[in-house]
Amino acid sequence: MDIALVERELDRARRAFGLFFEIFGQRGSAFAPALDAYDAIAVDCYRAIRQAAPTLFRGALLKPLCYMEHGYSPATMRRGIVLSRLLGEANPFPIIRIPWDRDNPWQAVFLHEVAHNLQADLGIWQENRQAVLRRVLQDTADAALTQTYGRWHKEIFADLAAILLGGTAAAWGMANFLANPATKALTYRPGSAHPTAYLRVFILAEMLRRMGFQQQAEQLQTVWRQLYESANPSRLPARLRQSADKLIPRVVDEIAFQPRRNLGQRALVDIIPYTPQDEARIRAGAKTLTTGKIPKDLPPRHLVSAAAFALQSGKIPARQLSNLVVRYLSASNDPIPDIPPLVKVPPLRSPTPIPRAVARPKAAAIAS
Ligand SMILES: [Zn+2]
Repeated sequence: MDIALVERELDRARRAFGLFFEIFGQRGSAFAPALDAYDAIAVDCYRAIRQAAPTLFRGALLKPLCYMEHGYSPATMRRGIVLSRLLGEANPFPIIRIPWDRDNPWQAVFLHEVAHNLQADLGIWQENRQAVLRRVLQDTADAALTQTYGRWHKEIFADLAAILLGGTAAAWGMANFLANPATKALTYRPGSAHPTAYLRVFILAEMLRRMGFQQQAEQLQTVWRQLYESANPSRLPARLRQSADKLIPRVVDEIAFQPRRNLGQRALVDIIPYTPQDEARIRAGAKTLTTGKIPKDLPPRHLVSAAAFALQSGKIPARQLSNLVVRYLSASNDPIPDIPPLVKVPPLRSPTPIPRAVARPKAAAIAS
């Protein structure tokens, strides 16, 4: 036997152990409940699609798994992508990285990360890109603009899907996340997959408008314009600045409202429906949260938005709100039913409680 091949397999095993130990090991730490809560939100985003379009995902999928690591922003490694740190093995399930200081369950940007995984698992990555390229070229006949929006396709998709998952609060949450100093927010970075932040919020506002939240859209645009009115606009190339008003509505229309073959000729807005009734329930849920109670009619993805509104109201301390929501979501994320023991075990006289997160890691559970 070639000893080099044996060594390679050992290295592979070591790397797999290292990656997954670092991720799963956190389930035995104080961060376990927050991670469990994030898992519950991620699974709910998949559930939303399974409810609206039951046959789109083929069978059961390993659910996304969240972990914490230093970083400015959350990030994700999609299912199936080849990881160099695993010597070219495919990533078996979506992994979502959350920065240590973002363990509170009202981050709209988390919905954005889940949406990247939805796009990949729905198999519309390429189809979405092609559609954006075609539409922008058709509408502008400008090759440079076409290339730029084509490169931005997945980030715009994730932003729009995040709004469908979380409603108006998700748009405000994303804007909050993107509200950096003008030198950063207005700077176009050639080759970047991320749209220039300044433009990105107008894309969010357009999505709100198309979903029927006209007033919120206007408000978001006004706030955003005021934030950057004294900034030097020349950081943004003229062709991007001048085309934005005309092009953004078309790109939003293409990504969210046009049918896709891999979605069974349905559009993104059909498979993640979001209605004014959902928005009203979230607003009512926010009020319930401020009284220290959980609005149990809200699915986890909508609870994110209700928590954001509750926080914004200032009527409940952040720590209390976070604990309330994390505890509830963590308890709700319990897909593995307890299996009754085959033989009856007499109870211990003084049972030692085992921390839940350590006792029952649920990360590898199958999402339905
Ligand atoms: Zn992204």
